[in-house]
Amino acid sequence: MSHAILLLPGDGIGPEVVGQARRVLQAAGEKYGFQIAFTEGDIGGVAIERQGNPYPDSTRHLASEADAILLGAVGGPQWDGLPAAQRPERGLLAIRADMDLFCNLRPALLYRQLADASSLKPELVADLDLLIVRELTGGVYFGEPRGIRELENGERQGFNTDIYSESEIRRIAHLGFQFARKRNKRLCSVDKANVLEVTMLWRDIVSEVASDYPDVELSHIYVDNAAMQLVRAPKQFDVMLTGNLFGDILSDTAAMLTGSIGMLPSASMNAEARGLYEPVHGSAPDIAGQGKANPVATILSAAMLLRYSLNEDRAAAAIEAAVQTILDQGLRTLDIATDDEVAVSTETMGNAVVNALLNNE
Ligand code: NAD
Repeated sequence: MSHAILLLPGDGIGPEVVGQARRVLQAAGEKYGFQIAFTEGDIGGVAIERQGNPYPDSTRHLASEADAILLGAVGGPQWDGLPAAQRPERGLLAIRADMDLFCNLRPALLYRQLADASSLKPELVADLDLLIVRELTGGVYFGEPRGIRELENGERQGFNTDIYSESEIRRIAHLGFQFARKRNKRLCSVDKANVLEVTMLWRDIVSEVASDYPDVELSHIYVDNAAMQLVRAPKQFDVMLTGNLFGDILSDTAAMLTGSIGMLPSASMNAEARGLYEPVHGSAPDIAGQGKANPVATILSAAMLLRYSLNEDRAAAAIEAAVQTILDQGLRTLDIATDDEVAVSTETMGNAVVNALLNNE
């Protein structure tokens, strides 16, 4: 069995963290009996420098041939002066649109060993394991009409349109139920159905889709209450299903519950489960090239890639267990080390995951 994985290291710490994730993927293949054919392409700032475009045709072609994609990060201060349409971040938007990646997965997982890093009390967040399933290509971020217009009295008025069709809601709802089925079988759908018609339809369609998944317990929550519950008692949630806007905000809130951006993976996928996997963090220009970056978010993104796009569930679980092992061993990069702990390098952290993966039962 051979899988084709496209690596897009990107900018800043991207190449450092993707380099470690690649070694972990290779080791997982050796242990679990599958081969990986890696290709590598440019995206973001490095693509602008080398090919004059943040998402060049060469990368688009490589993406179309890959089973899944692992991305580092894009962006950096040297490109901040460019017009919006030419900036590195455009590369990310372009590849998401190109592949129709409508489903964004943001797990918020807090390892017991790092519970002190959260801004919440350790007992509220220890062993937190929550998955936010966010619709990524619809809703108010893309709805038309939109703009800023001038009224007859000379005042300017800004406007956007929050819009979802039944089919857009249905396809993300199905994925939400399917992910809940793979976990603790509880799905909580977030809306504002007491005020917004678009989310009244959201609630209707999600309830309708629920009949296909009788083994999954469905609940509905208003977004304001969801925000409160996330910081009050986040462990009550298993899978949260949201539209684009609410998901953007709630997934960042959930991320902060874990206290450490260097540990958080994410995935965006399309209807064929082809996906783009990337750490939640950015290119961290302040520590780029210094061997200080935590590679775990990217390594856990690689685990998600194995599980969701390649169906290599055992290898994915083994990588996640290896991360547990190295945290138990006390390995910490700068971002997760407390004052009395010695921080190890990106490479040492990557080596430790590879060793734990190969040596764990
Ligand atoms: P950032 O996530 O890059 O960095 C925020 C802080 O967290 C920095 O202090 C950084 O050193 C630290 N940090 C981030 N990842 C880390 C890791 N793996 N290990 C240790 N420490 C880590 O966010 P920013 O500083 O706001 O943005 C920097 C650049 O990244 C900008 O150009 C921004 O546009 C871009 N960005 C890209 C993405 C993406 O590619 N998906 C996401 C966010 C930001």
